[in-house]
Amino acid sequence: MPVKRVQKTPMPERDAVLRSHDFGEVNEGYGIAHAQFEAERCLRCQDAVCIDGCPVRVPIPEFIHEIAKGDMRAAAEVLRSSNPLPAVCGRVCPQEVQCEEQCSVGIRFKPVAIGYLERFVADWEMEQTDIEITANLHRDEKVAVIGSGPAGLVCAGELARLGYPVTIFEALHAPGGVLRYGIPEFRLPKDVLDWEIEQLQRLGVEIQCNMIIGKTITMDQLMGEMGFKAVFIGTGAGLPSFMGIPGENLNGVYSANEFLTRVNLMRANDFPNADTPVMVGKRVAVIGAGNTAMDTVRTALRVGAEHGLIVYRRSDQEMTARVEEHQHAIEEGVEFHWLTNPIEVLGDDEGWVTGLKCVRMELGEPDASGRARPIPIEGSEFVIPVDNVVLSIGNRPNPLLLQTTEGLKSNKWGCLVVSDGSSETSREHVFAGGDAVTGAATVILAAGAGKNAAAEIHDDLAAR
Ligand SMILES: Cc1cc2nc3c(=O)[nH]c(=O)nc-3n(C[C@H](O)[C@H](O)[C@H](O)COP(=O)(O)OP(=O)(O)OC[C@H]3O[C@@H](n4cnc5c(N)ncnc54)[C@H](O)[C@@H]3O)c2cc1C
Ligand code: SF4
Repeated sequence: MPVKRVQKTPMPERDAVLRSHDFGEVNEGYGIAHAQFEAERCLRCQDAVCIDGCPVRVPIPEFIHEIAKGDMRAAAEVLRSSNPLPAVCGRVCPQEVQCEEQCSVGIRFKPVAIGYLERFVADWEMEQTDIEITANLHRDEKVAVIGSGPAGLVCAGELARLGYPVTIFEALHAPGGVLRYGIPEFRLPKDVLDWEIEQLQRLGVEIQCNMIIGKTITMDQLMGEMGFKAVFIGTGAGLPSFMGIPGENLNGVYSANEFLTRVNLMRANDFPNADTPVMVGKRVAVIGAGNTAMDTVRTALRVGAEHGLIVYRRSDQEMTARVEEHQHAIEEGVEFHWLTNPIEVLGDDEGWVTGLKCVRMELGEPDASGRARPIPIEGSEFVIPVDNVVLSIGNRPNPLLLQTTEGLKSNKWGCLVVSDGSSETSREHVFAGGDAVTGAATVILAAGAGKNAAAEIHDDLAAR
């Protein structure tokens, strides 16, 4: 087997020391030579198992084959036919546990770099000025989409493609959901997100920001006097969880959501040119070890912290962050405190954070999540001196819409209940998907839910 089939073509990256002080993108993207070389590693399997690992079933060997042939336009068409957000997914999807985990090349060697190739094609497409997209909203029934994260964006785009006039209502002042306010610029540049959203607007999707459904207007108004015949709810899971430990209300404690929103959406890193500051001391501890925690600690370094710490009660084997994000965090100098559980945030007389009291943990038998259960080691308490604590231990759906809308059912975690295998909620002609239904998950699962819901809404409208 030639050597080129063994190794994955590496992603060119910016130097870790330089990049950890700015918001420029870390991964620089393949050039044509990298992409074609990597595309040639694909075996074009008859039974392309990689597709089974992709929640939106991108025809992976087809688009990779077009790259190998040098027909980037055809590659872009194949890709976009199944994934309306390829430039986003090529950057943030956990391919290592999806398509690439299934790839046949991966049985003996490193799998084909499907994600890097997806990003290459989407970036190529972004540079073209002659891609024709025209709106053809030939149907009468108006559809409302609540929330402009990946679930809402994809649902709206698919409905517009089917000819429906669609309006997205977004609570924040800019669209994109977590892609806008959560995932930082150094992983997902906002001009990439803007470009993806622009393509949906070119299809005819209308976006109204600063519209909180359940407060600015209600679901009944949408479906009544405003004349929307169906509604998709893609409101995500943006309500942060807290640990309930003493000291959580001290100055200098943030939720990861608030911290990231202040920087990504409110541009706190550009204070005082922007209105909202973020107060960061020398030592910032982030509690948790998912993608959000990695984004937060790396952001803290970029807004002035000298030391960024991850504090996690389990070990690195149980963390949920993507391998690449963990690796990048190590390279950027993040300190990891594994098997360490915070039990109190300590503060000074003026109410500012001074430290994090923790207890050391050991791992026991797997718990309900299937991961080893962390058990405190008696008498092992110690203090980590810190100036800020950021909690990144999970999110739940915001209850506002449920509290203000008749006929919507939720489960014990506050997630909307939908019928088995569908996106129909308990209220007629109202559909839902993404994190609002599953709880915090991934971009591609939300996008896939939006896509499926659009097909169901189409059937629902056609059947009336
Ligand atoms: C920091 C961070 C990093 C992440 N990194 C990754 C990653 O690398 N890879 C990955 O696959 N996933 C990642 N995720 C998870 C992923 O971003 C989410 O699973 C995904 O965005 C969910 O999409 P969604 O459309 O369901 O909801 P969201 O993206 O949360 O969007 C929901 C939108 O609805 C709006 N909204 C809420 N209520 C209302 C209302 N009443 N009226 C109007 N609008 C409303 C919100 O303002 C928001 O804009 C990350 C999450 C976070 C927080
Ligand atoms: S499984 Fe791997 S080698 Fe086979 S078609 Fe998919 S990407 Fe190509």
